[in-house]
Amino acid sequence: MSSTTYKIAAIPGDGIGVDITDAASQVLNTLAQAHGGFSFDFMTFDWSSKKYLERGWYMPEDGMAQLKKHDAIYFGAVGWPDVPDHISLWSLILPIRTSMNQYVNVRPTRILKSVTAPLAQLQKNRKDLDWVIIRENSEGEYAGQGGITHGHGPNAIATELAIFTRVGIERIMRFAFETAKLRPRKKLTMVTKSNAQRHGMVLWDKVFYEVAKEYEGVVEWDKMLVDAMTVRMVNKPESMDTIVATNLHADILSDLAAALAGSIGIAPSSNLDPTRSCPSMFEPIHGSAPDIAGKGIANPVGAFWSAAEMVRWLGKGDLDKTADQLMEAIENVSENGIRTRDMGGESSTKEVTDAVCKEIEAIV
Ligand code: ATP
Ligand code: MG
Repeated sequence: MSSTTYKIAAIPGDGIGVDITDAASQVLNTLAQAHGGFSFDFMTFDWSSKKYLERGWYMPEDGMAQLKKHDAIYFGAVGWPDVPDHISLWSLILPIRTSMNQYVNVRPTRILKSVTAPLAQLQKNRKDLDWVIIRENSEGEYAGQGGITHGHGPNAIATELAIFTRVGIERIMRFAFETAKLRPRKKLTMVTKSNAQRHGMVLWDKVFYEVAKEYEGVVEWDKMLVDAMTVRMVNKPESMDTIVATNLHADILSDLAAALAGSIGIAPSSNLDPTRSCPSMFEPIHGSAPDIAGKGIANPVGAFWSAAEMVRWLGKGDLDKTADQLMEAIENVSENGIRTRDMGGESSTKEVTDAVCKEIEAIV
């Protein structure tokens, strides 16, 4: 069998981002070795808030060009208490998403085996929660447009402009319908707030209806206002499958989804360039968690799940089984009681990681 080498740009970042990126690269190398048909070549970039405090920059001038030489980007977490969150966000993650054409953010959510769901009804009917949240990742409320007039004094007025384009809406809707089409339930819920946000969200609705026509009889769909959506996610999780929402709305909904599925330390995310002209980026949804940084107790499951999604993406359909095997290894280990504290266990990051590697060797 000929072997493919995938070049991965690893950006561990800050806090537990470093621990879980190390853990993920160990698991990915083990998976590749067990499979035998591919390998990873990791290049680590020390771009973080800690380094920013030392040298005054997050990313060198040619940072994007360096990233572009890779097949994928694996991201840990960025953020540190001494640096305001908006600085780290706008210095690293958001510019990467924009420059790398990663206009889709995919967040799969389900309750993994042995995870305790916080809601009794979900704990009983675990299969009810099985969603893919598709977040528009390039425009909307995080377009960075707006400003402050009248200084910061008593008369200050700040505007935060949400920018929506037909091109931007249409491509995310198409991606969402294509995702829904490939899933067993073939169902898409479109989230909006067009009763109150009367320009951008109205265009969002209009383009959605246009694209929906192309999927008539193929994908069943419905439409929700974002406020009502939070209630439905808690009360009727089984009534949804694929969910598409704007940058801001999906950001909030996916944190709610992660909490419903057990712990923020479990949830993965993929920032995709569906055209594959730039590398896509994979990262757990949690942040740098300064409170537990350096203690060796961070839950690496979200990092491993993100790694599985990266394998799936890199394999273009050829490595789906391998990605599923990685998920199986993660779930078996957790079922065997090897879990970090946030999942009700007592194991360290290293113990979970070593156990997952052993399980991969047994399965793959
Ligand atoms: P950031 O500013 O980078 O977003 P944060 O601390 O505000 O970091 P998160 O890191 O997402 O936000 O998480 C909030 C809390 O959830 C953390 O302080 C931590 O206690 C817990 N947590 C998050 N991720 C994990 C994990 N992987 N394992 C264990 N606990 C976690
Ligand atoms: Mg935070």
